[in-house]
Amino acid sequence: MAGLRQRIDVAEAAALVADTMPRWPAVRVPLAAALDGVLREPVRAERDQPPFDRITMDGIAFAGAAWAAGRRRYRIAGTQAAGAPALQLAAPEDCLEVMTGCVLPLGTDTIVPVERIRREDGWASVEAGYPAAPRQFVHPRGSDHRQGAELLAAGTRIGVPEMAILTIGGSAEVAVARPPRIAVVSTGDELVDVGLPIADFQIRSSNDRALEAALRRRGFHGVERRTLADDPALLQAEIGRLHRDCDLVILSGGVSMGQFDHVPATLAQLGVAAIFHKVLQRPGLPLWFGRDGAGKAVFALPGNPVSSLVCLVRYVVPGIEVALGATPRAVPRVRLAEAVEFKADLTCFQPVTLDWSPTGEATARPRATNTSGDFVALGGTDGFVELPRGQDLFPAGYAASFYAW
Ligand code: AMP
Ligand code: MG
Repeated sequence: MAGLRQRIDVAEAAALVADTMPRWPAVRVPLAAALDGVLREPVRAERDQPPFDRITMDGIAFAGAAWAAGRRRYRIAGTQAAGAPALQLAAPEDCLEVMTGCVLPLGTDTIVPVERIRREDGWASVEAGYPAAPRQFVHPRGSDHRQGAELLAAGTRIGVPEMAILTIGGSAEVAVARPPRIAVVSTGDELVDVGLPIADFQIRSSNDRALEAALRRRGFHGVERRTLADDPALLQAEIGRLHRDCDLVILSGGVSMGQFDHVPATLAQLGVAAIFHKVLQRPGLPLWFGRDGAGKAVFALPGNPVSSLVCLVRYVVPGIEVALGATPRAVPRVRLAEAVEFKADLTCFQPVTLDWSPTGEATARPRATNTSGDFVALGGTDGFVELPRGQDLFPAGYAASFYAW
């Protein structure tokens, strides 16, 4: 492996994450448990779809040859219901009543909707001037797709329509990426969780709540949340246990240059080698990323609340998607509603609120934050835009990549 990279660009850091993340295993689950999962095998059509010439109207069916010969009155010889095998038309003067979703009866090819017929003494007369046409109201067998056609590719995220499409594969189970067990660990002697007594010199631990929420919102529910003091022995024991038991450990705090920033040294002792440390970005410069000899990755995010959340969304979530085997999605772009000035030679992650213009464009309204600790200013924002390093002024209308919280 190449050595530790330091003070690198955002794009390089993102690429290192994508190249380093392991591939988590797949599991077979019942369809009901597949929602929000990443498909790990292609799903193919069990049969032609539709599997038979399917009638799309309630009405009558008869032979087109009889219609062409001028017949407009048919004897009702039976009823073809959905879910019943195809009946056979016995005589040219006969018709069969047909129901939406049923098989086209054998010997018939022409359908007239029930609204266009009149029934009398077991006969059906077609409305004068009605323009019946063969195979109208027939959804032909295999016209949506053929047996064996790939309906969903491996890497597809299973959302709402995909749940229905899976049934056309015919299997009650499907292979998806195993839902990951993720640990979100805040470190800092000053941190106290809500509900516990707190001293003047302590602060409420907030990062872990936002990080967990961002993961849960994306369908990752196996999140364990912990707060740990800046004590090297404790950190080594607890992070070691979580690293062993979980697929991914996400730390926040303790990655800067302070005397109590023990996280990089602790990880090194646990055999997790640094791949990069420090990214040319604000917020989030101290970001740390590494992996152990078996390929398991660890993210150590800066402790400032805005930094930790931005880094989770910009690096950890895409890394998780790689590990799940998800097909990458294009990052959406939105236009700045106002100019943003940013003088530092760093990539700027600017929190924004999205507005939808009457012409259908998303515009991003920047929200000022005092510092990377000012997470209260994020209230009501939708995410952030990425304003690349090397430019000081981003005018109104500038198209920027947008990342949702
Ligand atoms: P650190 O990265 O440990 O130097 O922390 C940077 C700043 O973020 C410090 O002011 C910490 O108190 C604060 N911080 C670290 N972790 C958390 C957390 N879980 N919740 C709120 N603030 C935090
Ligand atoms: Mg700290």
